[in-house]
Amino acid sequence: MTLNFTASDYYQIDDLLTTEEKALRMKVRECMEKDVAPIMAEYWEKAEFPFHVIPNLGALSIAGGTIKGYGCPGLSITASAIATAELSRVDASCSTFMLVHSSLAMLTIALCGSEAQKQKYLSSLAKLKAVACWALTEPDYGSDASGLKTTATKVEGGWILDGHKRWIGNSTFADVLVVFARNTTTNQINGYIVKKNAPGLTATKIENKIGLRMVQNGDIVLRKVFVTDEDRLPGVNSFQDTSKVLAVSRVMVAWQPIGISMGVYDMCHRYLKERKQFGAPLAAFQINQEKLVRMLGNVQAMVLMGWRLCKLYENGKMTAGHASLGKSWITLKARETVALGRELLGGNGILSDFLVAKAFCDLEPIYTFEGTYDINSLVTGREVTGIASFKPVVASRQRSRM
Ligand SMILES: Cc1cc2nc3c(=O)[nH]c(=O)nc-3n(C[C@H](O)[C@H](O)[C@H](O)COP(=O)(O)OP(=O)(O)OC[C@H]3O[C@@H](n4cnc5c(N)ncnc54)[C@H](O)[C@@H]3O)c2cc1C
Repeated sequence: MTLNFTASDYYQIDDLLTTEEKALRMKVRECMEKDVAPIMAEYWEKAEFPFHVIPNLGALSIAGGTIKGYGCPGLSITASAIATAELSRVDASCSTFMLVHSSLAMLTIALCGSEAQKQKYLSSLAKLKAVACWALTEPDYGSDASGLKTTATKVEGGWILDGHKRWIGNSTFADVLVVFARNTTTNQINGYIVKKNAPGLTATKIENKIGLRMVQNGDIVLRKVFVTDEDRLPGVNSFQDTSKVLAVSRVMVAWQPIGISMGVYDMCHRYLKERKQFGAPLAAFQINQEKLVRMLGNVQAMVLMGWRLCKLYENGKMTAGHASLGKSWITLKARETVALGRELLGGNGILSDFLVAKAFCDLEPIYTFEGTYDINSLVTGREVTGIASFKPVVASRQRSRM
């Protein structure tokens, strides 16, 4: 079932976009409806990535997003966000593949890499001739990623990396792996570019996910992996340096639930008019209309918040708290929206072929990754109160009594 109707743009938010942003929206929409919509349920069920679609996604010239030069598109953050929403509107796995590749891995190289690294890697990544992943979290360090234990030890001509990364999207097939590790001399977090098939590197697919099933998330094990000095990212000298990247990528992540909710609303709007019960279309029942309108209101509010976030960024006014509030609040509203959509489709609401069940499942990992709802709320909470509440009071009290 394809999506070619955008009832979800009720407040004509399209009017807020430039001609270029509207054109990009249509280009991405067309590709997703033609190349991805017909095959996504099959690949989602198989939990396989549709590798044959990568050249089509590359031809959209959206990988690299806001990065200027080095063969990258140099889009406005709004254009990049709209493209993310259009990918997500049809398939959240495809948008996650792009997000990890572009807004995390490529952006880290662009913001923290040397001139030589940018020249060497960005152009082929922008064309999707090579694929990248971004490895921060570990089995024991997710929300508390700053405590990561993977080590980088300086040796003659380079570094030896040892450790275990978990959940890393695209990692089972990525050509370029951006890996964060703790420098054993300074005890600070540094960043490294590791190549596919590096001796000592293995990436094993995590099986049995209930969402984003097409995304190949992996467990990466690094056993004495050698990385040359040229492949150490000079701009990553502490954990704080990852926040430059996360601030931008959180804006993009916030546009994933927006796109997912738009797709679910559009599908439900059509379905309620087509399916009849008790001799009337489902749309004729008041309770269904209330649910549909609640979804519609959520979508309008989510889009406006996402759009404002982009403008704050463009004007250099966006803070980490702004980005985190966008990610947390939008995913919360999207969760309600897709759950209502799932209800409205009745039994068909649990079949992946009808988009809504798939979207319902795909939203769960998005609620959790790039900082869970809770962690992003606490980032904003710290900014508005001036008090950090990440570390439990109990733990610090226990320490002070000892
Ligand atoms: C599908 C998927 C894709 C991912 N892709 C990547 C990737 O490409 N690269 C990468 O590096 N990582 C990736 N991740 C990892 C992701 O960022 C982490 O899963 C996420 O940060 C949460 O960490 P965790 O799973 O260890 O949960 P935990 O940290 O164990 O959290 C469990 C629960 O405790 C809560 N919690 C934890 N600490 C606190 C606190 N201080 N205060 C209040 N509540 C707290 C959380 O909100 C959550 O509800 C991915 C994860 C998923 C599921």
